[in-house]
Amino acid sequence: MTAETTAGQGGVEPSGPWTANVLTLFPEAFPGPLGFSLAGKGLERGLWSLEVLDIRDFARDKHRSVDDAPLGGGPGMVMRPDVVDAAIEAIVDRPGPLVYLTPRGRLLDQALVREFAAGPGLRLLCGRYEGVDQRVLDAREVLEVSVGDFVLSGGEMAALVLLDAVVRLLPGVMGNAESAAEESFEEGLLEHPLFTRPALWQGRQVPEVLLSGHHEKVRRWRRAQAEEVTRLRRPDLWRRYLESRESGEIDEG
Ligand code: SAM
Repeated sequence: MTAETTAGQGGVEPSGPWTANVLTLFPEAFPGPLGFSLAGKGLERGLWSLEVLDIRDFARDKHRSVDDAPLGGGPGMVMRPDVVDAAIEAIVDRPGPLVYLTPRGRLLDQALVREFAAGPGLRLLCGRYEGVDQRVLDAREVLEVSVGDFVLSGGEMAALVLLDAVVRLLPGVMGNAESAAEESFEEGLLEHPLFTRPALWQGRQVPEVLLSGHHEKVRRWRRAQAEEVTRLRRPDLWRRYLESRESGEIDEG
């Protein structure tokens, strides 16, 4: 039996909505938090679609086993290549790159998120145990992606993180398209600090310039703040930002 969650119209046509196909041992983890707020509304409205397959449905032995001991010894279990391959075959005609979520993968960043959002969809393979047999990853030319330098117990949470970041960029999903353009990483900088009413709270006053109504001054203040926080917190981003500024890729603002 196949655990399936579909929303939207059609879902697999290249001309249809952006489509996520997920292979997992825990299909009940989806859509999870993607089922509410902007992503959830987008799913309901057919702005994107989600299909989830249970990898265990592709096991062929009577115990429905999906894993085995690592060859060469060591702790834990490894997901079997034959079972994972059969699951991948079931979504071979679905749109988008085939991504295996793994701490060994390319680190996810906003540039890759944008690239995925610009495509027709994604096929995501969620690992469990110690991971997936290397041969199937090689044979299927899987793109390996990590959501950070830490180890999760399974790929489901990583897939949800990736999907959330991508789906919010799809046309129509976010109410205010401008907010995406002004966020952290869009210009290689972290975002400036944010303030709302009341202007005075527990003796703390918001920066005067934000109450000035002077758009250009506000813009310049925000840019300076974004530069400062990036310089202090993320020397790696700051270095790249300075390089792009020197090469004229981004203006001095
Ligand atoms: N033995 C693996 C290692 O040392 O790289 C870790 C396996 S982890 C316990 C089980 C699964 O969680 C992985 O196969 C992968 O799908 C997922 N996972 C764990 N950490 C992740 C991360 N940082 N990014 C993406 N997926 C991750």
